[in-house]
Amino acid sequence: MTRVWQNWEGRFRSRPKHWHEPSTIDEVVAIVQSASKEQPVKVVGAGHSWSDIALPHVHLVTLQRMNRVLSVDHELHQVAVEAGISIHELNTQLAELGLGLSNQGSVNAQSIAGAISTGTHGTGPTFGGMATQVVSLKLVTATGDVLTVSPEENAELWDAVRVGLGALGIVVEVTLQCEPAFCLHSLEQPVPFDMMTQNIQEYAYGAEHCKIWWFPHTEYSHVWQFNRKPLEHLPARWKHWLWWWTDDFLGQRVSNVLLWLLSFVPFLTPAFNRFFRRVSYKRAERTARSNDIFNFPVHIRHPEMEYAIPLEKAGEALQELKRLVEEQRFVVNFIVEIRFVRSDDIWLSPAYQRNSCYIGVMMYKRKHAQEEYFRACEELFLRYGGRPHWGKIHSLAASQLASLYPKYDDFVRLHRKLDPERIFFNDYLHRVLEQGDEPTTKSDAPS
Ligand SMILES: Cc1cc2nc3c(=O)[nH]c(=O)nc-3n(C[C@H](O)[C@H](O)[C@H](O)COP(=O)(O)OP(=O)(O)OC[C@H]3O[C@@H](n4cnc5c(N)ncnc54)[C@H](O)[C@@H]3O)c2cc1C
Repeated sequence: MTRVWQNWEGRFRSRPKHWHEPSTIDEVVAIVQSASKEQPVKVVGAGHSWSDIALPHVHLVTLQRMNRVLSVDHELHQVAVEAGISIHELNTQLAELGLGLSNQGSVNAQSIAGAISTGTHGTGPTFGGMATQVVSLKLVTATGDVLTVSPEENAELWDAVRVGLGALGIVVEVTLQCEPAFCLHSLEQPVPFDMMTQNIQEYAYGAEHCKIWWFPHTEYSHVWQFNRKPLEHLPARWKHWLWWWTDDFLGQRVSNVLLWLLSFVPFLTPAFNRFFRRVSYKRAERTARSNDIFNFPVHIRHPEMEYAIPLEKAGEALQELKRLVEEQRFVVNFIVEIRFVRSDDIWLSPAYQRNSCYIGVMMYKRKHAQEEYFRACEELFLRYGGRPHWGKIHSLAASQLASLYPKYDDFVRLHRKLDPERIFFNDYLHRVLEQGDEPTTKSDAPS
């Protein structure tokens, strides 16, 4: 019987004909060489994308057996790892080596290659997305060649492959820039929505890392600000576990049941949001190891859309989002998440050449209401020049994406050169990269 692959949310599933778990680069090369246009190969990470970007059709490749730390440079604070390592495993091993990731997303189940390939980000207006932490990587291309790509080697591929959408080849090794292990002090506090949106840049730049949740149907947001502290401030482990249990059990598992009950009586949602915010979200402080602050448990299976908009437009866009919810009478049972990312030069990074505010919208169950809400939010984000997170839900196709990414045509041209037979393609990549025509605009992609 063929095995079933499905993504975290459970929205996408397939039964790929061949399931490969290579443990060496040579095995990856052999798999790629057995693939063809009719028998495409899809490398998957942890399936933690909400979009169908990782949906495999014929050959599924998972690098979960390629999960070792290969070498460490203690002077430069760099580690070389096999690309299938999960961020959780990576954090554990980095802690033993006295190192830490400078920034990361809110969960740690993703593989490092999957995370960088979709432009996964944490928060902090002076920190880039995770792909900016990559120093070099090793790529198996459609021809079975193994290329080292860095600003020095195969440099013409560098700005494309880091957020490569899984389209340019299989990343088998990654070298990451880390920093000496550190703690983060977290200060969280409720802030009136209007005050937050009017001063959003002050909040963003007021700490090394800042994230904000807005509770729809309330006048309040909740602002977290994190700053580095030396490792000496590491609290006793039991304190961490107590916090984790409270957040995991009360914050997630109890909320999950409440949200499920609420989905039968959606008209109670606004009152519930107001009550829940008031009792659960108060001023609090905590210090812990960096990844214990960056990450938090997420068990509530929900769909998510996230767009990066120019930072200077963030306050206005959020005020419009609040008006949209009120005027269209959307019943929104889940938070809006607001995070900040520094600009970079990676062609398909949503933060390409602009400091960005990522706005994430979510909804629990209620499929029809969710689709209407997301459609309206997407229209709003696009009016602000928003670029979608590749691993989250969006409805954009090639022609729209081309107008949002100055280097889109260069990426497509490079992709066609590296994978002319489209052996790494799936339906998602067909939708976002195929315009039918050859790219016609300016290019500095390698010819
Ligand atoms: C609960 C949850 C929380 C999340 N939190 C955040 C967050 O805080 N910030 C954020 O930005 N995103 C977040 N995400 C989105 C998630 O980080 C991305 O979608 C990420 O790509 C998932 O990594 P993965 O290993 O599961 O990759 P998959 O979803 O399995 O694959 C994603 C893409 O990467 C490609 N890929 C995987 N491995 C390789 C490889 N070795 N070589 C080349 N391509 C490869 C795949 O082909 C596919 O195109 C979250 C998702 C979930 C479900």
